[in-house]
Amino acid sequence: MSRSVLVTGGNRGIGLAIARSLAEAGDTVAYTYRSGEPPAELADLGCLAVRCDITDPEQVEQAYKEIEEKQGAVQVLVANAGVNRDQLLLRMSEEDFATVVDTNLTGTFRVVKRASRGMLRARSGRIVLISSVVGLLGSAGQVNYAASKAGLVGFARSVSRELGSRSITCNVIAPGFVDTDMTRALSDEQRGAIVKQIPLARYAAPEEIAATVRFLASDDAAYITGAVIPVDGGLGMGH
Ligand code: NDP
Repeated sequence: MSRSVLVTGGNRGIGLAIARSLAEAGDTVAYTYRSGEPPAELADLGCLAVRCDITDPEQVEQAYKEIEEKQGAVQVLVANAGVNRDQLLLRMSEEDFATVVDTNLTGTFRVVKRASRGMLRARSGRIVLISSVVGLLGSAGQVNYAASKAGLVGFARSVSRELGSRSITCNVIAPGFVDTDMTRALSDEQRGAIVKQIPLARYAAPEEIAATVRFLASDDAAYITGAVIPVDGGLGMGH
């Protein structure tokens, strides 16, 4: 059965792979994009592109109104949009810390809060948050990013406890290194050093994260909530 899906940050990288994968599986998919033009391949799949910056509560509200009007209340939410502003602690500006937390953590709060309204009414729903291996492992130069991604774990587990009795699940995926614009910014030397730490000795393809999202959003995952699922090639083993 086709469900009303929203993927934030669906115009590129992991979010694009998630939107494509759910649309190909038969869901009715809306996705947010913040800048540029929506990708043609998602238009070809019939996905609805909604411009929205998740740091602006007004834009989030407008996006939900448009989605509800065009495809009904969101039944599956994938909170994927995120940024990094890497810098060592001593040199990190207040602004870089705040921007990353406001996007990755507070932005997720905004979209989950708004989605929960319709899900509570429907007494069902699936929420998947895209965190990172770095949230649990830590990473030099990423105190802002790691704090925001670790925050998603406590957030998801609290949401699970609040909404579980209405058959709404909330889970976290913690990807390792995925081949997207975010990691393409690293130098070849940095990439080489990272790959040495990964038991599976390679980066993930965005589609490998999308496959786990598809599972968590499926009927087969109805009894999974408050979980943190690593998709990291073994990088965070033990965390
Ligand atoms: P990209 O940088 O390729 O894409 C990020 C997406 O988030 C873009 O669609 C971007 O929109 C959107 N976005 C950023 N800020 C905002 C905002 N304020 N409002 C709305 N949308 C916004 O990243 P990835 O695809 O690599 O990452 C996707 C998610 O996965 C992120 O949460 C990231 O932290 C996480 N992740 C990534 C890993 C990796 O190795 N790549 C590893 C672990 C986790 P726009 O195009 O307008 O900038």
